[in-house]
Amino acid sequence: IDWTAERGWANPRVEPYGPIALDPAASVLHYAQEIFEGMKAYRHDDGGIYTFRPLENARRLNRSAQRMALPELPEELFVASLEELVQTDRDWVPNGDGEALYLRPFMFASEAFLGVRAAREVSYRVIASPAGNYFGGELKPVRIWVTRDYIRAAPGGTGAAKTGGNYAGSLAAQQQATAQGCDQVLFLDPTRENAVEELGGMNVFLVTADNRLITPELTGTILEGITRASVIQLAKDRGMAVEERRVTLDEWGAGIADGSITEAFACGTAAVITPIGELVDGDRSIASAGTGEVTTSIREELLGIQTGTVEDRHGWMHQLA
Ligand code: PMP
Repeated sequence: IDWTAERGWANPRVEPYGPIALDPAASVLHYAQEIFEGMKAYRHDDGGIYTFRPLENARRLNRSAQRMALPELPEELFVASLEELVQTDRDWVPNGDGEALYLRPFMFASEAFLGVRAAREVSYRVIASPAGNYFGGELKPVRIWVTRDYIRAAPGGTGAAKTGGNYAGSLAAQQQATAQGCDQVLFLDPTRENAVEELGGMNVFLVTADNRLITPELTGTILEGITRASVIQLAKDRGMAVEERRVTLDEWGAGIADGSITEAFACGTAAVITPIGELVDGDRSIASAGTGEVTTSIREELLGIQTGTVEDRHGWMHQLA
């Protein structure tokens, strides 16, 4: 769908996948005015193809749009764009065993000009691709590198928006993590000493021995994960207390050491829930208790809702086709 300041949204269409022509002066290429979402669709046993909480993605896209001076996309157009794309070829969606169709809605400034101002021509598109089974077989706890050299987001910045610049800024930290033999990078809050923010693409939770869940509060410098919100809801449904507050590395390390923190996990659309096996902070290593019961059971419940094997009591699933 195309947008211009004069006409608003117009020209919805489904096109064969392929390169798109872009003027070399298109402002997205120079000033990074763009935003995106990441979602998955699963085929359920009833033959329908379903996605998870798409209105939450529509709302987050529009919050990102506001921050990046892009036009808002009406929620119904967002949902219709997913439905039309998936209905074009239902056979795209892999058939079972947790495999999914990954959906990537994105919006970028296509107007050709050099100068720093909001573009008056914008394009919104969705691409889709079959995604492998992240959760087949054994759950493998990940190793996390704590970056002390880079920050992901600062107050008043773009940290709460899903915009490419945040990810571009995280690449050097991710390279560092990989070089240290770690899977992902953990960012700290630059304004509050040693406070945990999030991983490169996932939110973080700690589980306590007395059955509480702790996760960093939304300060405006982390992404408001839809998986995060869903984990909080499922935990509350089980009667667990959930604390959204400042969490420091020291609290994490001391908790693991004295047994008051029993599990740590990360969550996001791609991998759903992944146990955190080890935190590496320079030459200090904070080992966790491996894959715990709470992590495993919340993951199974959430995954079951998404794949259609557990009752969807919150009405989170939306049929696309
Ligand atoms: N934080 C960041 C930086 C992310 O990129 C993502 C993935 N969108 C998340 C957290 C998790 O968000 P969600 O659960 O909506 O996928």
